[in-house]
Amino acid sequence: MSDFVKSRLNMKRRILIVDDEEINRMLLENILAKDYEVLLAANGKEALEIAESEKERLTAILLDLRMPVMDGYEFFGILQKDEVLKNIPVIVLTSDREAEVKSLNMGVADFIPKPYDVPEVILARIGRIVQLYEDRNIITATQYDSVTDLFNREYFLEYETIVDQYYPEDQKDMIAVNVNRFHVINATHGLEIGDEVLATIGRCIKKYVQAYYGIAARFDADNFYLYIKSDDHAQRLYDAICNSLKEILEDSDSRIRMGIYKNASANADYARRLDYAHLACNSIKGNYTEHVAYYDDEISKKENREEKLIHDLDRALEEEQFKVFFQPKYAIRSEEPKLASAEALIRWVHPELGMISPGLFIPLFEDNGLISKVDRYVWKNAAKQVAKWKKEYGISIPVSVNVSRMDMLSENLAEEFQAIVDEEGIDVHNFLLEVTESAYTNDQANIISVVKELREKGFRIEMDDFGTGYSSLNMLTNLPFDVLKLDMVFVRNIHSDERALKLVEFIMEIARYLNVTVVAEGVELKEQYEVLKDLGCDVIQGYYFSKPLCAEDFEKLIEKEIGHDN
Ligand code: C2E
Ligand code: CA
Ligand code: CA
Repeated sequence: MSDFVKSRLNMKRRILIVDDEEINRMLLENILAKDYEVLLAANGKEALEIAESEKERLTAILLDLRMPVMDGYEFFGILQKDEVLKNIPVIVLTSDREAEVKSLNMGVADFIPKPYDVPEVILARIGRIVQLYEDRNIITATQYDSVTDLFNREYFLEYETIVDQYYPEDQKDMIAVNVNRFHVINATHGLEIGDEVLATIGRCIKKYVQAYYGIAARFDADNFYLYIKSDDHAQRLYDAICNSLKEILEDSDSRIRMGIYKNASANADYARRLDYAHLACNSIKGNYTEHVAYYDDEISKKENREEKLIHDLDRALEEEQFKVFFQPKYAIRSEEPKLASAEALIRWVHPELGMISPGLFIPLFEDNGLISKVDRYVWKNAAKQVAKWKKEYGISIPVSVNVSRMDMLSENLAEEFQAIVDEEGIDVHNFLLEVTESAYTNDQANIISVVKELREKGFRIEMDDFGTGYSSLNMLTNLPFDVLKLDMVFVRNIHSDERALKLVEFIMEIARYLNVTVVAEGVELKEQYEVLKDLGCDVIQGYYFSKPLCAEDFEKLIEKEIGHDN
């Protein structure tokens, strides 16, 4: 048990008194007995035997220097050669000034002069030393990461300051090192191999930074950082790490990615240094041809833009800078294509940046969870439009809204949607929910139960981006949904490439088997439309018919449609 735990448990600490004169031993024992458990030895040799057997349990040693058999100096010298014993504080008992200086120089913790002072002073002196050593041990126990033996986050940040102070004239780089698809290593090879990979990288990095007077840390999972004198590290470090992994991983050459923030020492913001290296590192995530990236203008611009969007979001919602657009979907099974429904798609009309497409902010807000605010804004607006059109034109145009993966995990989602349609007085059938296929594959059991609940309330579910989420056929038959939205990648070459055509034919067959409606997205050309019509596709959405329109333009479309019908 460590001293730290002992101190927390209020256990009596154990102290060894080593003195050849019995009277001295008794005097000290008397003083200490109330607060400590006392062990006694009459010379170095006896003391060594006790120390060996009490290794992990000794809190401090009070040591006389001049003794027969083995003196205090020799005893202390032996302690220093033992990894555990050398950490026990030794307090020298002496009446000789010269010996005091000599022993302090040897590295003893303190001394207590003979003859003994008032007991309170001795107790206080010992107490202070014990405290000091225990604090020091707590620090050494917590500053290292147990898997890799590198610093942990807290101490890395602390030592960064020290490195800066010691080498103020050197430029230093911050390097982030990550393992590609680390969770897959854990999943396929087991946690033990996962840990071995981390430990190996840790050893390699440690060796590397030592050569450059740098420091290194592992934060959570597979996030390593190096803070190191500036140099051409990229290739050298990369090769070193890949080499060290050769024995453990077959594909060690493509396993590592690194992000480098050059001259990080010029930036006084410590958190930023880490962020920038990390951002650079993640800019090549999923890109297996590049394994090193530098933090540069482009990343910094993207970073600034994203920060601005995050910062501006609440205000934008308040000021209704977001506009909901509607892209019509046409039913094509009849002779003439007929306006059937629409998808609500968000646009941000930013006061300074102009119109921002969702491709720029949706993934960002999905990452940090802000998406749920945006989505709710769209849901309410879309429901309002459905109600408005019903009132103004006497027809119901069903509108589908996008539901992010994160929304699917929110409690009471079904009640929320119910409240939205109730509030606007619209029919649940006219409010469709698009859920991306990949959401289904991620947290299946959970998503399925949410979707079931929604369908019980009468909501219909469109599986969005179908074909990009890697659902197996087997899985598909178990997933509840009403509409399959064929992703545009399948539509793109359908008119020109035999294989693409065959694939869509196959998907249409599955849809028929599952008894779901098929919507094809991203139809731009007449040829694509015609092929899809021939294949029996039910609904089409795409530039061929119309781009997403603002509410007013969509209303013109409705008017035209009604006029057409009459
Ligand atoms: P999505 O849900 O797959 O939406 C279809 C996207 O394809 C829309 O892009 C639409 O404008 C575009 N598109 C439609 N027809 C064509 C075509 O013929 N050719 C081409 N090249 N593109 C076509 P948009 O509006 O930029 O939205 C992009 C993505 O942003 C959406 O993909 C969706 O994932 C997300 N998104 C948009 N609005 C929302 C929202 O309110 N909430 C959430 N969570 N995501 C949204
Ligand atoms: Ca969609
Ligand atoms: Ca889609």
